[in-house]
Amino acid sequence: MRILKKIFLFLLLAIILFVVYLLINTFNFESKQLSVAPVPRIEMNPEAINNFKEALKIKTVSPENTADFDSLEFRKFNTFLKDTYPLADSLLEHKTFNSFSHLYKWEGADTSLKPIILMGHLDVVPVIEKNLSEWKVDPFAGILKNDTIWGRGAIDDKVGVIGILEAVELLVSQNYKPKRTMYFAFGHDEEIGGRLGAVTIAKYLKDQGITAEYILDEGGVVSDGLVPGMTKEVALIGVAEKGYLSLNLGVRIEGGHSSMPDKETSIDVMATAITRLKNNPLPSKITAPLKEFMAYIGPEMPFTNKVVFANKGVLSALLLSVYESSASGNAMIRTTTSPTIFNSGVKDNIIPLTASATVNFRILPETSTDDVIAHAKMVINDERISIEKGGFVSEPSKHSSPDSKQFKAINTTILQLFPEVVVSPYLVVGGTDARHYNEISDYIYRFSPIHLNKSNKKSFHGLNERLAVSDFYDSIGFYVQLIKNSN
Ligand SMILES: [Zn+2]
Repeated sequence: MRILKKIFLFLLLAIILFVVYLLINTFNFESKQLSVAPVPRIEMNPEAINNFKEALKIKTVSPENTADFDSLEFRKFNTFLKDTYPLADSLLEHKTFNSFSHLYKWEGADTSLKPIILMGHLDVVPVIEKNLSEWKVDPFAGILKNDTIWGRGAIDDKVGVIGILEAVELLVSQNYKPKRTMYFAFGHDEEIGGRLGAVTIAKYLKDQGITAEYILDEGGVVSDGLVPGMTKEVALIGVAEKGYLSLNLGVRIEGGHSSMPDKETSIDVMATAITRLKNNPLPSKITAPLKEFMAYIGPEMPFTNKVVFANKGVLSALLLSVYESSASGNAMIRTTTSPTIFNSGVKDNIIPLTASATVNFRILPETSTDDVIAHAKMVINDERISIEKGGFVSEPSKHSSPDSKQFKAINTTILQLFPEVVVSPYLVVGGTDARHYNEISDYIYRFSPIHLNKSNKKSFHGLNERLAVSDFYDSIGFYVQLIKNSN
């Protein structure tokens, strides 16, 4: 009995020590939020909202099939920019790339300072014809109702392009002269990889020998209720983005008649391959951007969550299992596996000769497309299946530190305009044009000062894309302030 009692006492002591350890870490878990005085709101150009509406009316759609590219609409957008922002057009250096992508250069008084590049993209994803009846408004009419502006591109990403240009036009009209050179870069094919726009502009900047102080593109937002456990709004600044790879799988097996099927047909083999991929996901991991996210939002969380985040080292297994349980959480901790196309068969009584499928992977930082291909081959483990890379491939971006003065400049600007929010670094799970600028700067961040909540988060790339008018004005105010802060 005495030995049992000793074991019990020992265990109790171990538990108490562990709890004390967790609590000490929690109490030492210091807030990383800056203390910044808010700035007064600026007066807006009353025409700004109409300009935004006009921009949404132009169907700058990046189609799935390049043959459907409507150059007339993109030409309209060129004219719109020239007519709507005459000061930016005439007083700044304005270049176009592949006819429809734009780069403005606003030369600063002190050319020894590295320039800043603000980015956006003017193309939008298509509106699926058969879903049109589910739109509450015409997606290309630029409709304003109930303090909300509706239309394809309202969030992604005409608010960025128009927000930046309104800010620039306003500052130029006030005779503002920057000390530091500023570039404004707007691609016209971001939604299909950015080859003609961002890739070309980045190459031009590189050829000019330009390295940027920092680059800011879309990608992060102000989360309103989308970060679990946070009641406050969180401004998420993307410090890295995931890579992109699609694998095209194919198999060909002699078919035959469906009355006498062989043990395995091409459909069976392909279905097994897909099941294996889904059942064997790539490993989960807490990468640098997620560590930083936890370090920034953890101290602002309610006590229980704070304990977990403060002890992410010893509680990493618990954290990973929590993240794994939701689709958005899972996307933060691993390379995701999504079968997106599956094709086989033409008739109900014929066993098809071939089956093909496409699986899309979004690749976690600190891994590569080669790792994913090796994993897929190992898991599928079937010589009969051919595996080929899809057309657009992108490695995970490099990671930009949140401990830089460049991050601090963006962080400060956010708090000057939105004093109530918590600011945090974050991993962007989608793709942006910024990935093509890896060689132009070590400080690439992704943030738009617009609110995403449960109601509008699926609207961009989906149905009824819309943005609060206040978010549009906040965007202009944000870029004005950011430009002023950078000088
Ligand atoms: Zn976008």
